[in-house]
Amino acid sequence: MRLSSTLQRGLVELPEPPGPIGMYVCGPTVYARAHIGNARPFVIGSWYARWLRLRGYDVTLVHNITDVNDKIYEAAPGASAARAAEATEWYLEDVARFGLDEVDHYPKVTETMDAIIRFIADLVERGFAYEVEGDVYFRVGKHAEYGRLSGQRPDQVEEQEPNARKEDPRDFALWKGNKPDEDTWWESPWGRGRPGWHIECSAMAEQLLGPSFEIHGGGLDLVFPHHENELAQSTARGYEFARIWMHNGMLRFTGEKMSKSVGNVATMQEALDEWGRETLLVFFLTAHWRSPIDYSDETVGAAAARAEGFREVFRNPSRAAPPDAWERFQETLDDDFNTAGALALMHDWRDHELLRRALDAFGLASLADALEAPEELHELARRRQEARAARDFAESDRLRAEIEAAGWEARDEADGYRLVRRS
Ligand SMILES: [Zn+2]
Repeated sequence: MRLSSTLQRGLVELPEPPGPIGMYVCGPTVYARAHIGNARPFVIGSWYARWLRLRGYDVTLVHNITDVNDKIYEAAPGASAARAAEATEWYLEDVARFGLDEVDHYPKVTETMDAIIRFIADLVERGFAYEVEGDVYFRVGKHAEYGRLSGQRPDQVEEQEPNARKEDPRDFALWKGNKPDEDTWWESPWGRGRPGWHIECSAMAEQLLGPSFEIHGGGLDLVFPHHENELAQSTARGYEFARIWMHNGMLRFTGEKMSKSVGNVATMQEALDEWGRETLLVFFLTAHWRSPIDYSDETVGAAAARAEGFREVFRNPSRAAPPDAWERFQETLDDDFNTAGALALMHDWRDHELLRRALDAFGLASLADALEAPEELHELARRRQEARAARDFAESDRLRAEIEAAGWEARDEADGYRLVRRS
């Protein structure tokens, strides 16, 4: 079992099952309806945890909710806490619709404040952080390995969070003193304020997975500064922190329809309403998790056709696959979780049991399942056949319409009829 890691710049071997495997995937900042791009780290993290569990690993998956942040203060002045609570519900509702119930913990910043403050106090005590007028900054210059994850030379790190009072332009905020336009704050040894963005993930990961764990995931856009800073904070306390860094490629908007609506990009809710969970999951399968994925009417439409192709397999008789088919599928996913390769194998399978098992690995068993028509519809289909035999075409048409209204189609076959779900 091996996985590409940004930190080692190559493939890294996982321990033997059962591990344990602690897995932390950075979640959203909750200030509005989540963007469809936010679905990718959630889906890939959930799928990988699911695959590891199928392969006998003991996995704990953590996906945090950033419910204190500049973006939330900006989006809802004077009502940031209410907005964050509402947008948290939206996010959890949206991701639940994917039907991938693999996340064990969804920690929130507002519920982790004590651990965050203790973490910062420890960094101050160790000389890795310092206070300036109610803010606390991480001392980048003291950390010899800073820049290791993102590949920046320590003396050339980009400036972050400009502030003339900092010792060094590279230093980043761990704690920010309360400002007049920020309507939430917490008491701390440095006065009223709230945490910087990066510290929450170091504190939450440590609280739920321990100081060192296997896999840290998130979008490629988080490598710098977010993950570089998480790694610096945690390793400054003498821990390894995450061993493997799994950064997924970004979702890009490429279609014509999308380019017209700049500034009004698709939310996860809209995408789920428009395409449904099965099509979106098949869409995410089509690209390797490290690669970018192009989101357009054409690419998602092609995924819808592939999903329909899988349903069609189950409408036709099962045909046995080669005996090594599952083994090849397993090898493909064990080797850097190559879902596009797995999809290519599944495409050729007509073996119902095997294909259902493979689809289930991605939460897609529904493509195989919901295909047996209810008994009432069989009754209607039989009556329709009788009506046709008696040349009562009006009655036969009426029954056909009734079957279609229930979402099915009666296809005539040599030896009777077959009920097929309408797509
Ligand atoms: Zn994070």
